[in-house]
Amino acid sequence: MTLIDKTFVEVFGQTPSVIAAAPGRVNLIGEHIDYSDGFVLPFAISDRTYAAIRIRDDRKIRIASVQRRHKIVEVNLDSVTPNYIGEWERYPLSVVWALEIAQGLDIMIDGNVPLGAGLSSSAALECSVATALNHLFSLGHSLEDLARLTQKGENDFVGVPCGIMDQSVSLMAHVGSALLLDCRDLTTKNVDFDVASHGLELLIIDTQAHHSLTDGGYAERRASCESTTRKIGISTLRDLTLNQLHASRDLLTETEFIRVRHAVTEMSRVLQAVEALENKDFHLLGQLLNQSHASLRDDYTVSCPELNVAVEAALSAGALGARMVGGGFGGSAIALIEARNTADTISSIETAFVNSNFKAPRFFTSLPSQGAEIIMRA
Ligand code: ADP
Ligand code: MG
Repeated sequence: MTLIDKTFVEVFGQTPSVIAAAPGRVNLIGEHIDYSDGFVLPFAISDRTYAAIRIRDDRKIRIASVQRRHKIVEVNLDSVTPNYIGEWERYPLSVVWALEIAQGLDIMIDGNVPLGAGLSSSAALECSVATALNHLFSLGHSLEDLARLTQKGENDFVGVPCGIMDQSVSLMAHVGSALLLDCRDLTTKNVDFDVASHGLELLIIDTQAHHSLTDGGYAERRASCESTTRKIGISTLRDLTLNQLHASRDLLTETEFIRVRHAVTEMSRVLQAVEALENKDFHLLGQLLNQSHASLRDDYTVSCPELNVAVEAALSAGALGARMVGGGFGGSAIALIEARNTADTISSIETAFVNSNFKAPRFFTSLPSQGAEIIMRA
């Protein structure tokens, strides 16, 4: 439980009117296809971010975060435009902007989603603020609307061209389930993901690597997907089958072809993973994770040595499957393992990192948890 209500009083001298919480996420499978209208299968982790908010009677926004030493950032509402230059507070401000809030606020943030580890602390932060504001101002936005609005905030205000997955799962996930999300229309289906009762665990390995290629690399991948749709004359890669892709090979550059081969095969792996989960076939799920990793490494080329070593070491230690998750070039990998092998798997990965002269990785495990919720209202 959080002490955010007490922290709020210490920092702002009054009690908050609302506290909301929103989780980080891990994407089981369906990587780099949310922006191609694909299916993805993420789940919410138990780590979450809390936002405590109170309305002010002026036009000042004051924001502080426990993870930023409680330092208050003060901004006038008139400066909350996409030209705003700042630091971490751009994330909560992007929500204030996207939800068109026209009144001053005191906002306190606290959370335990690891920052910058590929577990989407950014979406957790945005969705906690959005859920609190939606309640505080009785805005009546649906979860789909909040997902689109927070994505718009991150895209246009923060300037990060993220897809719709992170915000959707942070808002819509349910305990015990992975969320099959159709990124075309945001329809969802909860898919039972009860690893624990099968003696399994999902190990999350934060490689602590952050290669600077990230931003340009992401844009370049998206551009290949978009130029392919234009050349083939379809509106999204969702409409493309593997056969059609092969038939159109002459229209495409080799780079476009392999990038899009990742997208098309990954979309079909997500649907196979749903079937595997429905049949409790965790070995098949493991194989699909391995195929996803190979495709991200070889066709989409967004992996990096640290992620590959983490995946290979997990598999050598007996994992059913493993893959990089998130944007790539660093960040985290996941491994589906027997729960009784957790300590051995961790030590094998640690040893492999030492042998490769990599920075020591961090490990997390998480069961599928609940999406955003209001946890206190005045
Ligand atoms: P990820 O979403 O994978 O964690 P991002 O780079 O997208 O990585 O987002 C991380 C950024 O979000 C941090 O650098 C910080 O600016 C902001 N952030 C997330 N959570 C918090 C928090 N609790 N307090 C302050 N800033 C946060
Ligand atoms: Mg993020």
